[in-house]
Amino acid sequence: MESLSLSPSASSRHRAPIQGYCVPNQASISVSSLDQILTVPKTTDIAIVGGGASGLAVVVELVQRVKASYKQIRSIMLIEKREKIGPGLAYSDASTGLILNMHSDTMGLCPINAMQFSEWVRANATHLSKHPFPTRYLYGQYLTQLAEETMNDAKKLGIDFHAVNREVIDIQKLSEEPGFALTMGTGEYIQAKEVVLALGNFCATVNPQLRGNANYFRCPWPAEKLRAIDRDTDILVMGSRLTAIDVANALVANGHVGNITFVSRSARLPSVQGARKVFGRKFDLSNLARELEEGESGNGSTLGVLIEKMKDLIDENYPEAATRLFEPGNKSVIETLRKDVSEAERGAIMWQVVLWATTALTERYWNTFTVEEKQHWLKEFNSKWVTYRHAMPLDNGKKILELLESGQLRVVKGSKAFSDEYRQRFVLEQKDDEGRSVEGHILIESLGQEFDISKINSPLLQTLLTSGLLESHPVSGIDVDFNTFKTASGIYAIGSLTKGVHFYVIAADRVTVHASRIADSLIHLPHRKPLHIALFVGSDLFSNLILSKLIPQLLARGHCPFIFLPKDTGYSRPASAKRGPYDLEKLHFWERNVLQETIIPLLGATPNIGAEFMTVQQLASHYGLLVQSVPDINAQSFVETLKENHIDIGIPLRCNQRFSSNTIAYFNSPSRYLLNLHRGKLPEYQGVMTTFRAMGNGDTDIGNSLHHIDEHFDTGDVIEARKGEIDYGKCMLVGMKGLLGVDVEMVLDAVEKGARGGNLREGNVVQDEKRAKYWKFPTEVELNMVREKGVELVDKDGKEVFAFLMECYGGDDEERKEELRGQISDAWLKWKLDNFEIMD
Ligand SMILES: Cc1cc2nc3c(=O)[nH]c(=O)nc-3n(C[C@H](O)[C@H](O)[C@H](O)COP(=O)(O)OP(=O)(O)OC[C@H]3O[C@@H](n4cnc5c(N)ncnc54)[C@H](O)[C@@H]3O)c2cc1C
Repeated sequence: MESLSLSPSASSRHRAPIQGYCVPNQASISVSSLDQILTVPKTTDIAIVGGGASGLAVVVELVQRVKASYKQIRSIMLIEKREKIGPGLAYSDASTGLILNMHSDTMGLCPINAMQFSEWVRANATHLSKHPFPTRYLYGQYLTQLAEETMNDAKKLGIDFHAVNREVIDIQKLSEEPGFALTMGTGEYIQAKEVVLALGNFCATVNPQLRGNANYFRCPWPAEKLRAIDRDTDILVMGSRLTAIDVANALVANGHVGNITFVSRSARLPSVQGARKVFGRKFDLSNLARELEEGESGNGSTLGVLIEKMKDLIDENYPEAATRLFEPGNKSVIETLRKDVSEAERGAIMWQVVLWATTALTERYWNTFTVEEKQHWLKEFNSKWVTYRHAMPLDNGKKILELLESGQLRVVKGSKAFSDEYRQRFVLEQKDDEGRSVEGHILIESLGQEFDISKINSPLLQTLLTSGLLESHPVSGIDVDFNTFKTASGIYAIGSLTKGVHFYVIAADRVTVHASRIADSLIHLPHRKPLHIALFVGSDLFSNLILSKLIPQLLARGHCPFIFLPKDTGYSRPASAKRGPYDLEKLHFWERNVLQETIIPLLGATPNIGAEFMTVQQLASHYGLLVQSVPDINAQSFVETLKENHIDIGIPLRCNQRFSSNTIAYFNSPSRYLLNLHRGKLPEYQGVMTTFRAMGNGDTDIGNSLHHIDEHFDTGDVIEARKGEIDYGKCMLVGMKGLLGVDVEMVLDAVEKGARGGNLREGNVVQDEKRAKYWKFPTEVELNMVREKGVELVDKDGKEVFAFLMECYGGDDEERKEELRGQISDAWLKWKLDNFEIMD
């Protein structure tokens, strides 16, 4: 079995820097000894209380915004009562040996790159890169490095950054600037304009009355304290979910041989995680969020609608799972786990993909529930939801099964226990199924997080509730604004305290997104609304390349892209149609035929590892997107499709059908837009093949334009124009790659503006008709004239463009690459033979 520790080469201080937008590549600084409070200024702009993953994520996001020049931040202070920034409770060295419960691909502390942690593992602990659930300790090391690099970055950007090692015990609102006064456990205090509470997780208990008893553990963390337990003693573990499983594994890793009893109300274990796959109809879940938000669920209960729709989705896509999920049988715990493990090993637990696909949407569903519905959910459905949605990693499933089969572990119903002082035993109030007393010498509370704030053991939290600076939420935690995470008193909160408002609040993927929203609010950037974006994709290479770059970026920003493939009459012309000039035919071959007839059919829907671009089919299967062919973009039935999918912004990427009033009217609303990304400066370069025209005219750069769509080609008001450089050293088709970055940036920036409530109809430039020129396909004479200037559409023997296509779609798999190379080569040869007579 491979070791789960960091590789020796990577455990030195010379680790590969963390990649991604969050931090740059540079040397790191040490935070092992945090600043002493007396050496730092006593005022700060932003004070973040709690330096676990959540507090760190807020700092990362703030630093990122300064780096992106949104706003300069003068000073940040991170106040942490432990000695390290980053690992917090879950990922400290006290958790050595325990593995992550979430797949490493979801654990990147970077909202636009969930893979950041996996990439870090690949770079620093190569031998673990195929292990989807590495140790928590390893994750703690990633967080520590991220903290070091972020702090270093902050200082370089001129932010006066301090991390201080203190416990905050009180916060008071000042009647005048700066805003808040924070008192430390040492009696010192500082003033801050803004405060973010990132206090972390608090252990839930069901038997607080046992406190004071030496054999009672009110929280299993840090797990190292479990080492003091006698190995042959019998133990009651209160809980049967992920925390209880961690505790059993930690005990066994310590050599425990005594009996372990899981005690919970449900007496159910989590199910087991199957292979990580994508739900092919993920967009349905996004549509469901919009329906609920827009009140389309009718008069019925929102919760009822949600449950029905989820059932339907699972039923339609994974019919075999519906019985299992909604009508669980009477199988024993051990039988159920045996079946789960075996299904997970065979990769047969497909229905989980539907539940996993809800992760980012759950808070939106939750936000549409009334307080009563939320309470009803927690009472009636939550336990089942946790069983299936929060499944355990397969490795843990196998270990637990072994313990159950050996008889060392059992799972019983119950909650309350009392202490039999005379026998020095804890005894459950409830008997087991056979009517026997359930007892243990040690009792460990292992229920996970406490969400009832009245029970949370934090002096700071209790003081803030008493003083009224924080208000409790009627369902759970404290009340914060859904978008900004700000309380009525102006303090921000992230993490477990916000459960009542957001439902999912502690997993790394949620923490990063929530931190990002807090950072937006701290710098007064309007909240980003998740949008539905329709991308109309042409049959040509560049439509597809732009699409491939755009999709992951849109998804990372929380949007849901939809891909529409309008019928391309230019491409699907009849075989009998008259041939055009040779150069245009050759361009057509390399720009469309090779992609549509060779690359796409050969690659299929499975993405090529290491390829820079994905085809439409690969994108759809990789991200669970809707892809639909559209015979006529102006048909009423297509307008209905736009409506059904709640499309906010439509963007043709070199689509060759013209929009008419019917479809344009759909977008004619203050919050909807139909925009065209046009390769060419407007109004001088309207029409087709404008890059070729600009090259023929000797322009040094190409103007890219984003404009509104009206009923004519390329005549709508221009939102923005940007320039990209033309590479005259390459043929036109390959040289166009240099413009891709500008294309993608322009679309993303417009979407970002719309998503943050900006008006894309303001400040546009009306095209000057007098300067306007509409370019058609060039004639043979025009082609020859431009060729004489040294400009080629495609290089003469096609070698350059061939190599370019291999670079785009080839990937790392040599065998597949060879097949692709062979098929393109054959197609090229065939085309040359077929077009011999028009060759010049
Ligand atoms: C045992 C365990 C396992 C988990 N496993 C996973 C997993 O596999 N995947 C996943 O995504 N999530 C997991 N989680 C969820 C995990 O909590 C989050 O991923 C994340 O660590 C939460 O970070 P946090 O900063 O909110 O909390 P914490 O990491 O608890 O950090 C909060 C910090 O605030 C400090 N603090 C609190 N009060 C004060 C104060 N008054 N003054 C100064 N400092 C203060 C604490 O010392 C602490 O360091 C797990 C949680 C636990 C408890």
